Amino acid sequence: SKPRQIRPTQPATGSIAKLPEKLIDQIAAGEVVERPASVVKELLENALDAGSRKIELKLEAGGVKLIRVADDGRGIAADELPLALARHATSKITSLHDLEHVATLGFRGEALASIASVARLALTSRRTGAAHAAKLEGGQSAPEPAALAQGTVVEVADLYYNTPARRKFLKSEGTEYGHCDAVFARMALARPDLTLTLAHNGRVTRHYVATATEPTHQARAHVRRIADVLGEEFAESARVIDEEAGPLRLYGLIGDPALARGQRDQQYFFVNGRFVRDKVLAHALRAAYADVLHHERHPAYVLFLVLPPDRVDVNVHPAKTEVRFREQQGVHQFVFHALTRALAPSVAHAPAHEATPSDVIRSDTLPAGNAFSSMRQQGFGTQFSPFRPDSEHRAAQTQAAYYAFVNPNTASTSTSSAADSTASTKQADDAPMGQALAQLHGIYILAQNRAGLVLVDMHAAHERIVYEGLKTALDTRSVAVQQLLIPVAFAAEAHEIAAAEEHQEALQALGFEVVPISPTALAVRALPALLADADARALASAVLHDLADFSATRVLTEHRDELLSTMACHAAVRANRRLSLPEMDALLRQMEATERSGQCNHGRPTWFQMSMGDLDRLFMRGQ
Ligand code: ADP
Ligand code: MG
Repeated sequence: SKPRQIRPTQPATGSIAKLPEKLIDQIAAGEVVERPASVVKELLENALDAGSRKIELKLEAGGVKLIRVADDGRGIAADELPLALARHATSKITSLHDLEHVATLGFRGEALASIASVARLALTSRRTGAAHAAKLEGGQSAPEPAALAQGTVVEVADLYYNTPARRKFLKSEGTEYGHCDAVFARMALARPDLTLTLAHNGRVTRHYVATATEPTHQARAHVRRIADVLGEEFAESARVIDEEAGPLRLYGLIGDPALARGQRDQQYFFVNGRFVRDKVLAHALRAAYADVLHHERHPAYVLFLVLPPDRVDVNVHPAKTEVRFREQQGVHQFVFHALTRALAPSVAHAPAHEATPSDVIRSDTLPAGNAFSSMRQQGFGTQFSPFRPDSEHRAAQTQAAYYAFVNPNTASTSTSSAADSTASTKQADDAPMGQALAQLHGIYILAQNRAGLVLVDMHAAHERIVYEGLKTALDTRSVAVQQLLIPVAFAAEAHEIAAAEEHQEALQALGFEVVPISPTALAVRALPALLADADARALASAVLHDLADFSATRVLTEHRDELLSTMACHAAVRANRRLSLPEMDALLRQMEATERSGQCNHGRPTWFQMSMGDLDRLFMRGQ
């Protein structure tokens, strides 16, 4: 068979012509109406901008067959209905000044026109105070009288009926519904003051009732709504954040790193009530979580950033999900620091509070930082247990024991400090993490504090301590180096040797001396003193593996924490290593003194408190 000839398409014949109005709308619709969910978004935004208290969304066949939004807002005057459907017609701004200070969700005046150009649209509305309602269908020039008590009903049927090419891009009914549902959920999260209902194919799938609107109850309303939308589990375990700096305010809930998810499906960021995806904010979040979260896990959060409208440009993209901050750097700093503070509290830095054992189980006595305390069923307050801060004197006493613990080879003071530590056990009972009682199956430390029982994951806790120690050492350029009397030589793979050569500088800064001694072997001559107890070969090879993935110039700026985390994991005490009571006490004291000791570097919790009350309940004492 003859190969078919491929002819270039006929070039346009040259004359320039104005596009017909309808085609202009359809081209604009390409950006605004990507799929049913984008129609849902625009219609819900219009309902919100109209000051509605109650909104009902009905969908059929994933929104392709029908999208119907009914609201109780201020409505549209009958004689303005044709304008509402006209392109570039809006009631929301009249000048550039308005645009720069826009506080409504819509302002471009093109959504209804775009939608009407690719679907059958009908608009029924009754302006507040008007004698009756009116209805206008797309294509009609004059509205007709209609029956409607209040607000506006927009019906969008047969999406893309006249643009079959677009229709082909639609996914299954279930998928399109899923996108609509996600848009609806975002709206619901942003506006707990509204009553919202969603129905699909005649069945109600979401229904949220408005909560108190007074500003004093705003935070609680948000919490309630977040629990309704994302589930009690998230709301109960999340931490409340509410910070202000100048004209900026950030509030909302951030998920417990320990419960981080495998997917990015619970990440909501709103700027002035608008759901956005923004690189600056995403980066600030990632950076704040980097230290407490395993890199393959995704934190869950619902955050609201509020700032004066003229500080942020919302007119970046027709779909309005992107924004541009006038002071990007400032916003980044503010968000990053607010989150870091919220994620960082260590045991010892928990708010000072004179606790009686029975206080600890009464969730309503938890510090105000945790607004969910009243929703908690149990008193396992891992992060917020009210303890008294550690005293300096005790910290000094146990420091020696700690160094003996992390590095028995080099500690000449180990015996005397162990004795000190035993002598101080009476006080240790008063310490936040208490006094060690025993080691359980080589994995957990059991300790007793004033509140009751403390359970510590030995490896996870030690890992966090070593990690923070390394960070501090590197920050203060005081990485102590331990020369090995006998270098540890090992057969290495080509990429390990290459990494050792390429990253000499970084290795040195980290406290390593790793040198090629043959084309197929490396020798470790020195280690960071903090890690002197680790398996030199395994440690060096893990660090080289990490380094091989990075570019030489930015290792210590961009990948520092990853490297330190790898190092800490290798150096941390392994399961099944027997610890003496003084060693365990030393670890507990060190936890008290370490920032973020509530989680290991991978975001797992490092310890739990079980109060006497918790135990009493387990055994049904006093009931
Ligand atoms: P925009 O929202 O950008 O102004 P739209 O095309 O979405 O543009 O809407 C055009 C106009 O129609 C709005 O400015 C508003 O005056 C009016 N409008 C649309 N939907 C509603 C509604 N649900 N309630 C009251 N007015 C509405
Ligand atoms: Mg609009």
